[in-house]
Amino acid sequence: MKTDTDSTIENFKKYVIPNYIRNPVVLTRGKGVYLWDSDGRRYLDLFSGWAVSNLGHCHPRVVSAIGRQVKLLIHAPNVFYTEAQGALAKLISNNSFGGQCFFCNSGTEANEAAIKLTRIHHSPQERYKIITMHNSFHGRTMASLSATAQPKYHKGFSPMLEGFTFVPFNDLDAVRKAVDDKTCAVMLEPIQGEGGINIASQEYLKGLRSLCDELRLLLILDEVQCGMGRTGKYFAYQHYGITPDIMTLAKSLGNGTAIGAMVARVDLAGSLVPGSHASTFGGNPLACAASIAVFETIEREGLLDNASEMGRYSMERLNALAEGFPNVIKEVRGVGLMIGIELKKEGASLVKKCMDKGLLLNCTHENVIRFMPPLNVKKKHIDAGIDILGGVLEEYN
Ligand SMILES: *Cc1c(COP(=O)(O)O)cnc(C)c1O
Repeated sequence: MKTDTDSTIENFKKYVIPNYIRNPVVLTRGKGVYLWDSDGRRYLDLFSGWAVSNLGHCHPRVVSAIGRQVKLLIHAPNVFYTEAQGALAKLISNNSFGGQCFFCNSGTEANEAAIKLTRIHHSPQERYKIITMHNSFHGRTMASLSATAQPKYHKGFSPMLEGFTFVPFNDLDAVRKAVDDKTCAVMLEPIQGEGGINIASQEYLKGLRSLCDELRLLLILDEVQCGMGRTGKYFAYQHYGITPDIMTLAKSLGNGTAIGAMVARVDLAGSLVPGSHASTFGGNPLACAASIAVFETIEREGLLDNASEMGRYSMERLNALAEGFPNVIKEVRGVGLMIGIELKKEGASLVKKCMDKGLLLNCTHENVIRFMPPLNVKKKHIDAGIDILGGVLEEYN
């Protein structure tokens, strides 16, 4: 007999472009750290959909903020003011480095905006080159893709946009050597997500800040994945005692509503003059209301502290696991709840086995398991997840 699950999957096979490898699971519902599929199976979600669902699924504050806003106004064109967009920009600015915001709908668009602002700002001097890092990920549209220094994502889409120079991550000297008279910025993730949870060292990020000041380059930080409390501070750069000139956000900014933002130092932001850039849906009241609720929830529920605490606890337990499986686990590394478990072999089949046992994790860069629970995760969820992972490792050893 054909089930609802079968007919949904059939629709995809017939009508949806097959550009994703999908699990044969139809998700229907989420609450907190759990997801349910169309057969009623429950999954413990310790991945949060690439760190989008940082407050867990369908957090009541986000649900009610959306519910309130949806009855008032869903969309308004950006030739008018709306209360929510202004209030959200204020929250982002006051919790970061006092910049001004441009709103869009995704991470790649936030990075496109950063690249365009950087170019237009330096256009009088004809400087346009941006240095980016090996194993970076900045998105799939052509400029962000060109900034992404991973050949596998470029394959088949050449020619890339001109003006990006790639250097190894955590190598300050390489940046200095790559600068020429056309260079205007350095762009990186303080903690690389898709590249395998690679953490910028203190000396490196501080050194980059000084180098950028010295050579009059902008420092652009892509915090699309590592921002919004993931690391135990609002933004990962806040662990380094520096500030960027431009920062990009998306993923968890709306806890699942589509929203991205570029934040720029006020004296740069003005270069994006009327007519130079825009987004139809960017900063719409619905998405902004959800994002405001995200900030309020982080504050009211003390989620930055919880992320730090649960991050420490997770690292402890995962390091203990690593000691038990020295043949499989090479290293556990992370900041707050942005944690990577580097394996000595491929990790996709391990992730699949965990899913079969009701635990959602992710594998990136072939052999790095990403462990990114929601910021409001409790010890008991971490314990339950790591117990499942431990059981799977027994078989995997
Ligand atoms: C996911 C991601 C992006 C792209 O975001 P989309 O919303 O998928 O366009 C950009 N940068 C980083 C660091 C990301 O993790």
